[in-house]
Amino acid sequence: MSAYSQRPWLKLYSPGLPADITPEHSTLLEVFRSALRRRPDTEIIRYFDGVMTMSELDEASDALAAALAERGFAPGDRMGIYVQNDPAFLIGLLAVWKAGGAGVAINPMNKARELTYLLADSGATALLCLEELYDGVAKAAIESGSTSVRTVVTCSPLDGQTRNDPRLFAALGRSRPEGTLDLTEVLDSHAGRRADAPEPGPDDVAVLTYTSGTTGVPKGAMNTHRTMTFNAVTYREWMKLGTDDAILGVAPLFHITGLIGHVALALLLPCPLILAHRFHPEVVMDAIREHRPSFTVGAITVFISLAGVEGATRDDFSSLRVVYSGGAPIAPAVNQQFLDQTGIYIHNIYGLTETNSPSHAVPLGVHAPVDPTSGALSVGVPVFNTVVRILDEDGNEAPVGEIGEIATTGPQVVPGYWQKPEATEASLPGGELRTGDVGFMDPDGWFYLVDRKKDMINAAGYKVWPREVEDVLYGHPAVREAAVVGVPDEYRGETVKAFVSLKPGAVITPEELIDYCRSQMAAYKYPRSVEFVDELPKTTTGKILRRELRDQAT
Ligand code: AMP
Repeated sequence: MSAYSQRPWLKLYSPGLPADITPEHSTLLEVFRSALRRRPDTEIIRYFDGVMTMSELDEASDALAAALAERGFAPGDRMGIYVQNDPAFLIGLLAVWKAGGAGVAINPMNKARELTYLLADSGATALLCLEELYDGVAKAAIESGSTSVRTVVTCSPLDGQTRNDPRLFAALGRSRPEGTLDLTEVLDSHAGRRADAPEPGPDDVAVLTYTSGTTGVPKGAMNTHRTMTFNAVTYREWMKLGTDDAILGVAPLFHITGLIGHVALALLLPCPLILAHRFHPEVVMDAIREHRPSFTVGAITVFISLAGVEGATRDDFSSLRVVYSGGAPIAPAVNQQFLDQTGIYIHNIYGLTETNSPSHAVPLGVHAPVDPTSGALSVGVPVFNTVVRILDEDGNEAPVGEIGEIATTGPQVVPGYWQKPEATEASLPGGELRTGDVGFMDPDGWFYLVDRKKDMINAAGYKVWPREVEDVLYGHPAVREAAVVGVPDEYRGETVKAFVSLKPGAVITPEELIDYCRSQMAAYKYPRSVEFVDELPKTTTGKILRRELRDQAT
């Protein structure tokens, strides 16, 4: 047995935790129905002054499922969910499962170009969409004729609450886009009805969650009911959570951390999930004061922002018993500052979309070690039932302590990418995920990330793939060549920079190119700076050397 398969990290688990767990359910719909039977009156969603109980969520999702089925949504079909952290996200997700289908989690920051690709690639036949995103974005995607969307249900972030917090909703009116159904009307018109569809099975896709890659083409990770359920249970057991807890929903629900560590976990316990549409530090701080959450998980920038809210006191944070942060590196100094200010230790948690949130986490109550050489804070130890190996350049297992690629096997690893067998084979050979992250394990079993094999840029947990930004730049008539790299940024960790050479005679400013990119892609992706160069550095075979540019820029 190799050093890794002996799982030396098991001795670091919190006392009483087993090496392996067996979830009591194998689909998220079973998870939900079981929690509903036990606790129909649990307030599963708290949204400003609005509350929704488990029974109400059940009724609402039944009604939407019935309406979808009536419009031809069939078992196995997909529905895009293109909303913020709104109650509609949960209603939509449960409704598609009840109608026998799968959700496609879509970032509401996405523009028409991105949305069209995701809807077309997933073959979605239905879309649940924020009203304000319909006219500006979704309508164009659907009218492009490239998608199979037949049914659009729109909703408003004003639904489900009455406070209308002006900090978020001052400029927001209501609209009823033509050709769409309205969620609140559907819930009324279909109240008491249900879809007559077969129950999803454990290996059916529950959510397609898109992640890009070096090719620049987003791939739908097939987050199945089984893999999602497994890691919802991981959270419950690892963080010792129960029905008395309340979850602060600060991670975007369309991203894997929010899907598992907020939605699936809240449905499993069940316990309240506190939502606030989108992350606005002052608004979230008020939600913490009002709803007193005990658990959260989010990107480190969320905690930096909350700590910076004027007037925030130690008392305000005192209900947060268990706090984890993942998705992006945590600087040990930032962790210490947060601890000094709030009394809360932020536990590191690491994983990918393909591992349904954690493959690693710091044991609850333990302060993770810092690697003296790289200064990296440990990302924790592999969670239940999981084996993580470090591989050298040739794909062989590296000795303990040596740096190499992190490769993960476990029940939370996705079976593959939606209709992309080659990408699946490349990233998941034999079912083991090649993460593209570079790190090592120390002799005690702690893991550290020190580099990346992949070209990805990590801007505050939002992943930007240079190839996609470059493709957009190449679409501009002035651009001859483009290379996009990540450069250090004090707040976002990394940010996006483009090096561009122009076509002979082209006249354009960096600002104009930035504006062009901004109109084509989600806000977190567009280059924050553009530098014009005569020639981009290349290998003898003509491949642009992104790394050289990155080193030059940092
Ligand atoms: P995503 O698929 O968006 O969840 O992104 C996964 C990637 O985020 C990983 O491959 C890592 O590069 C990065 N990541 C996730 N968690 C951490 C963490 N705790 N520390 C550093 N990087 C992280």
